[in-house]
Amino acid sequence: MIYATLHKGKEKQPLNRHSYIFSGAVNRIEGSPEAGEVVCVRTHEGKFIAYGHYNPTSGIVIRLLEWNENKHVNEAWFREKIISAIALRKSLFDSKDADSFRLIFSEGDFLPGLIVDKFADTLVLQSHTSGMDRDKQTIVKILTEEIPAVSCIYEKSDGDGRKMEGLANSIGVLFGTMPDKITIRENGIKYKVDITSQKTGFYADQRNNRAILKKYIKKGDCVLDLFSFTGGFGLTAAFNGAGDITLCDSSAEALTAAKVNFRLNGFNDPDTAEKDCFEYIRELHQQKKQFDVIILDPPKLMPKKKDEIKAMRAYKDLNFNTMRLVKKGGLMFTFSCSGNFTPEMFKEMIAYSAKDSGRTVQILEQLHQASDHPVSVSVPETEYLKGLVLRVL
Ligand code: SAH
Repeated sequence: MIYATLHKGKEKQPLNRHSYIFSGAVNRIEGSPEAGEVVCVRTHEGKFIAYGHYNPTSGIVIRLLEWNENKHVNEAWFREKIISAIALRKSLFDSKDADSFRLIFSEGDFLPGLIVDKFADTLVLQSHTSGMDRDKQTIVKILTEEIPAVSCIYEKSDGDGRKMEGLANSIGVLFGTMPDKITIRENGIKYKVDITSQKTGFYADQRNNRAILKKYIKKGDCVLDLFSFTGGFGLTAAFNGAGDITLCDSSAEALTAAKVNFRLNGFNDPDTAEKDCFEYIRELHQQKKQFDVIILDPPKLMPKKKDEIKAMRAYKDLNFNTMRLVKKGGLMFTFSCSGNFTPEMFKEMIAYSAKDSGRTVQILEQLHQASDHPVSVSVPETEYLKGLVLRVL
């Protein structure tokens, strides 16, 4: 076993079971572990803290996995964690109306760096760390053994997280055969999912929030779905009798997929705008357009803690300009999926947006990521998706 000894005073967070050890916290490493190897982390006095995956290239040099000294990170360890994650989902979903969900959510399921989404019988796996890369075949073996109905495991390890870890993209089939097309069900709505598109192909974290939107939509409502992706919110509004529905996304592919989803569920095509939402909301204001309900679900605008000021400005810009488009007494569903952008910062930004747009705003509900994206109490960053239902007067 290779030992990593921390500097004095750097043991508090890891002892409190936060997963990340930043490079500056490590005093010395005995031996020369390879990227992805499991190391044993100790206090400056040599006391055991935890085992973790090591990656010298990453700013997060170790991701802690196990705090029990007698439990080693091996196949049995992975199996226990994966079985626990599967058991949670079994308790959350009955199989008929929800065949798709996040099966493994990284630190939230005590498997830092590993994400697995289930879309009907296909699993989409994302590894964000060299540690999970190294154990990928073991993980695939366990998944196929524990979920016998799985017909394909597709790897979609890409994105900025891997760049920061110094890892190249890794994309392709790991098990079984790639399905032609996947149709999933969520809240009684059907969606075609293209697992080769963005992220793992569908944003399951918004499931509960889409269901909540349903109860606020009134027949004939005029709805604007900003950053719509494949139309989850807009389509939910259509199901509840909304009138004019407009989707805006910068991705032509996403909007084409959204139209396919509307048709699949028996609705006419929505209006679509293949535009930058930042510009589109300004255009709509100039045209004096107003909506009963607006959904604002941008991508992560604060990837790093140090981006706070930039992120605050970007969120404020979007929320301020969107608020101006809400009819008096209308609603806004506004979200932030940046783990570093705290709920307090989010509400503060909304208060400034309300003040500057001259609108009076009430919070009706506070929204969160769905429960198949569990929050680890020791890793606050796992609570990443925040939303507010606002009444705009
Ligand atoms: N609301 C969606 C998920 C949104 S994900 C759902 O419920 O499924 C964020 C989306 O924003 C992506 O589809 C991406 O293509 C789009 N996007 C990113 N930057 C954008 C921009 N500047 N203008 C418009 N769309 C953008």
